[in-house]
Amino acid sequence: MMENTIIIGSGAGGATIARELSLNYHNIKILDKGPLHTQSDAVLSLKFKKVTDLENIEIPDINKINHLKNKDHRLDLELMYVEGVGGTTLVSLANACYACSSCYTDSTTTQFQLQNLELYNEFLEASKEMKVNPLPFDFRGPTTQKMVEAAEKLGFYMEAMPKFIDFKICNKCGNCLYDCKPGAKWDARDYISQAQKNGAELIPDFHVKKILHKQGKVTGVEGIHQGKKRVLNSSRVILSAGALNTPLILRNSGITQGVGEEFFCDLFLTVGAYLKDAYLHQEIPMGVKSEFGPYFISPHYSAFLPAAIEEKYHKQKKNINVYPQDVVGIMIKIADESQGFIDTKGNIHKDVTSRDIKLLQEGINKATDLLIAMGADPDSVVISPLRGAHPGGTAPMGKVVNQNMQTSLEGLYIMDASIIPRAPGRPPILTIVALAKKLAKIIE
Ligand SMILES: Cc1cc2nc3c(=O)[nH]c(=O)nc-3n(C[C@H](O)[C@H](O)[C@H](O)COP(=O)(O)OP(=O)(O)OC[C@H]3O[C@@H](n4cnc5c(N)ncnc54)[C@H](O)[C@@H]3O)c2cc1C
Repeated sequence: MMENTIIIGSGAGGATIARELSLNYHNIKILDKGPLHTQSDAVLSLKFKKVTDLENIEIPDINKINHLKNKDHRLDLELMYVEGVGGTTLVSLANACYACSSCYTDSTTTQFQLQNLELYNEFLEASKEMKVNPLPFDFRGPTTQKMVEAAEKLGFYMEAMPKFIDFKICNKCGNCLYDCKPGAKWDARDYISQAQKNGAELIPDFHVKKILHKQGKVTGVEGIHQGKKRVLNSSRVILSAGALNTPLILRNSGITQGVGEEFFCDLFLTVGAYLKDAYLHQEIPMGVKSEFGPYFISPHYSAFLPAAIEEKYHKQKKNINVYPQDVVGIMIKIADESQGFIDTKGNIHKDVTSRDIKLLQEGINKATDLLIAMGADPDSVVISPLRGAHPGGTAPMGKVVNQNMQTSLEGLYIMDASIIPRAPGRPPILTIVALAKKLAKIIE
């Protein structure tokens, strides 16, 4: 008899598990809250969620976060994510570096090995299918190369970033995030369409509200589809709604223990400066990287930078117009501490800890030295707002799911960034895809 499985969410985790199970003739329904996006539509619907500090938490949850409180730092922070078929993968920069244990001792590889899960084969499989390759040298832009050379003089090595890009068809336009016209970048829609070819049914605009269960076993899901309440029955449900939504569905379904309490997001910011005719914004973004344990740095143009640099010049009474082509930037991304909490309304409360600040400061110092070594104007250095684009840790393995990725309800599994226990400080898509492949083998 064909197994009947409902998958909630079609991002990195949901799409991969759908595709893997579809290879073995499962009867699969993929429900996604959002619509079918083109990549450029997805960018327009990129959501920015403001994070409040832990002081402003709602009263009913206060007892859960006393241990998290850290009053040292109050910084404005925004989270970025996409809802719709393919999830947040549509806006990714195709970075596939996942950090092995020698790059970062608390890498995802180590974290899951501690849970007795070896993902080595799944990483290899995923890398092959997603065409992961270090950015080839002839795809490296001149300003990126200039950065590599300046870094070497300062004593740190920048290596090519592994990318899930098919370089046979990539046209080097640098538009990976906004619109990859040749379709060279992998995104989760690739796996969704493979799953559909194998018979899976995709239902967009289906907002799942809760998981239905009886006597400790899953019986189905309830949600809103085209404005109407709808119930779908199944004894196996895989929750892949992403780290911001999965905890809400769990709580609505009566699963509360350990849920939404250890939120992280791989905090990042970009340091930028004026460098005439740099044209970094037209190069493949984040083409190289340098790893420093819990953080890494990588060339990155942010649309925030030109106006910020111009403003800084105006304050110095310098009347210089700053255009995107005259800006060079470096992203610093850290493995932040899990000092975050999602309340019952989905609001996120998070403090930036002293350790987070120390790592960011180290990265800012390195990036500033590097920009100046490249010839950027030292008087122009600015820092972008702090953001997080890798939310996770809201249903961690060992607390909310077991090593089989199953919750306390029989038949309810979680497969998205929520189950990563601590911040990887590295792009998580490859890890999530590898985990989903592992889950498919476990439940087959
Ligand atoms: C600008 C940007 C660039 C990034 N670049 C990279 C990169 O280069 N490399 C990398 O590894 N990572 C990158 N990331 C992070 C990466 O995209 C995410 O970490 C990853 O997609 C998370 O996968 P997921 O399966 O947990 O969730 P998602 O991919 O976000 O998928 C969640 C899905 O669930 C659906 N959903 C939510 N709630 C419900 C509900 N109630 N009912 C039904 N469906 C629901 C959503 O519509 C969505 O489709 C980037 C993120 C951003 C914002």
